[in-house]
Amino acid sequence: MNTDFLNQSIEFVKGVGPARSKLLGEELNLKTIKDLIDFYPFRYIDRSRFYKIEEIPKNQSEVQIIGKIKSIRRTKVRYRDRLNCEFYDNSGKIDLIWYRGFNWVEESLKINDEYVVYGKVTWFGNKPSIAHPEIKSISNFNRNVPRRLHGIYSSTERLVNEGVTQKYFIKIIYNVLNSIQNHIKENLSSSILQEFNLIDRYKAIVNIHLPESQELLTESTKRLKFEELFFNQLGFQLTKNDRIQKLNGFKFEKVGNNLNEFYKNTLPFELTSDQKKVIKEIRNDFLNGKQMNRLLQGDVGSGKTIVSLMVMLIAIDNGFQSCILAPTEILANQHFKSLSKLLIDYDVKVDLLTGSSKTRERNLIHSNLLSGKTNILVGTHAILEDVVKFKNLGLSIIDEQHRFGVAQRAKLWKKNNPAPHILVMTATPIPRTLAMSLYGDLDISYIKELPPGRITTKTVHKYDKNRLSVFKFLKDQIYKGRQVYLVYPLINESEKLDYKDLMDGYESIIREFPRPDFQVSIVHGKMKSKDKDYEMKRFINRETQILVSTTVIEVGVNVPNASVMVIESAERFGLSQLHQLRGRVGRGNDESYCILMTKDKLSEDSKLRIETMVKVSDGFKLAEVDLKLRGPGDILGTRQSGMLRFKLADIVYDTEILNNARNSAINILKTDPKLNKNENLPIRDEISTSSYSKNLWRYIS
Ligand code: ADP
Ligand code: MG
Repeated sequence: MNTDFLNQSIEFVKGVGPARSKLLGEELNLKTIKDLIDFYPFRYIDRSRFYKIEEIPKNQSEVQIIGKIKSIRRTKVRYRDRLNCEFYDNSGKIDLIWYRGFNWVEESLKINDEYVVYGKVTWFGNKPSIAHPEIKSISNFNRNVPRRLHGIYSSTERLVNEGVTQKYFIKIIYNVLNSIQNHIKENLSSSILQEFNLIDRYKAIVNIHLPESQELLTESTKRLKFEELFFNQLGFQLTKNDRIQKLNGFKFEKVGNNLNEFYKNTLPFELTSDQKKVIKEIRNDFLNGKQMNRLLQGDVGSGKTIVSLMVMLIAIDNGFQSCILAPTEILANQHFKSLSKLLIDYDVKVDLLTGSSKTRERNLIHSNLLSGKTNILVGTHAILEDVVKFKNLGLSIIDEQHRFGVAQRAKLWKKNNPAPHILVMTATPIPRTLAMSLYGDLDISYIKELPPGRITTKTVHKYDKNRLSVFKFLKDQIYKGRQVYLVYPLINESEKLDYKDLMDGYESIIREFPRPDFQVSIVHGKMKSKDKDYEMKRFINRETQILVSTTVIEVGVNVPNASVMVIESAERFGLSQLHQLRGRVGRGNDESYCILMTKDKLSEDSKLRIETMVKVSDGFKLAEVDLKLRGPGDILGTRQSGMLRFKLADIVYDTEILNNARNSAINILKTDPKLNKNENLPIRDEISTSSYSKNLWRYIS
């Protein structure tokens, strides 16, 4: 691209000028010609054709028709007032519907006059209707809108007030597009264009703004989505190749005493074949002299902890330290305890460092780390602090990766030189597309099978009105010696209302399950961690039978005797989170239950989610559904999904384009890692100049 030209202020675009340029800059951050070119319409209106009512295709969302009104009458449907117009052309009939503004319709629309109607069609069986259509008498029609397929640009109130109309946008963009033909260069190779049947870049940009036809709009969208995803994936591949090339990693060649001993004498069960496979993959990484960056995906309860322990033993056997990072203190504590217990007969020192470690303790740990006395450090974010230095850190493990950001991963890299091997583990299965666009530079291992003997947790949906029967069921379970989790949604830890729900719930549980027969613990995010631990401990030691909590319990907690998970207001959780919570039970060999409590009236969406939970137990399948239902933001949390903000591409729906883009990025770099071949020059040029890929330049220059 000719950057000089494209970086010129929009002030010089015909029809803009200083005042408008300032206004557009302030309101929409449109400053340069490039900004304007990149400012795609957010939707389109097809005014290029009129449909016969009879011929409206069922998949066409918005249509334009010409016809006459036969009747106007007010009706009531399910207590709701509405106004119904029967609208005819010579092929058929469609209903126009209003739910408000009745007077306007009755006063201004005339029976038997001719109108142009535009709007979104809804089908009730074979009957089409349009609610709140745009309707204009035929004589008024031509003056106001271009009769073509055209885009709608996002605008602001101020712009509208100052006379910046949609027509104006179209006009200035038309002017820009006319002047840039020579400045927009192709940025994909001709073989890619050919292979995936993509139109050229200039044509795509023109048609995304001013589509000549529906077909060309589709082609342009496809082309520009491909481009976005291609450079995104190319970025991941370049980063990864560069890392592999430049960064050496520690070699752990020895299979030493600790691991052998542990495998033979301590390992409390036979590893599943997936666990073995993953350990093998990691061992290979340890041998090839490069730094490992691997993501381990395994459903809740699939046994990731033991895998992490065994690979840490490999590091130790080779003279290196390891650390494992957990998102909460509860979880860090739990890891610390289970590791210490499993390693009790070994000459392996495990330490725990969290936000609540006392200064004295902390100082001791710091010096143990430096002297090499500590072999395994378990902890929370506290590990990331700069004061925490190791003698020889060889392996860092991050548990529940989705709770951490990329920046934190990077901090671990700096704890040794060369950087330690990194293993990130997640129990929120991420659909493949998401994993590719988020962790495209990581290698991925999967544990898909659960340890043998697990009985699938029985999941049921109960309405609030059935609460008494649920309580009775809980009592039966408790009398059988089982324990129960009761979780309240706390979407936002500071929300007063949520706390009230939790505390009210707690009170009513204590009333319903009185002492001395029953003991109840409570854990939530606002408690001091000492109190949290105390309550947790009582539950773990079976001193209490019911644990009332917020979602702090969601991550990783392991109490095999707990067999019932009751989730209150389950409709407020996403599928992935519900699945995480459900994973807290079914860890022993007893029949276990997950009870989803909801209010009596549910939205369609919530109903679908709850039904899916009841039917599907596979976390990977649920993640796919969740992604479709709620989008990446709800699966990953906003921080990470921010990285997925593409202009056009939508990784939920554009899977095929994403796969193609990824494969061609990989293939191109395989044969031409520095993009030196003539035919790849357009790609190279793009990387050297464009803002979204400029930071990649260092990898190929
Ligand atoms: P997660 O993958 O969710 O972190 P954990 O590592 O906590 O799962 O393991 C869940 C439970 O399964 C633990 O009690 C663990 O001891 C047990 N477990 C792990 N691997 C096996 C296995 N191969 N056979 C039997 N039980 C296992
Ligand atoms: Mg775990």
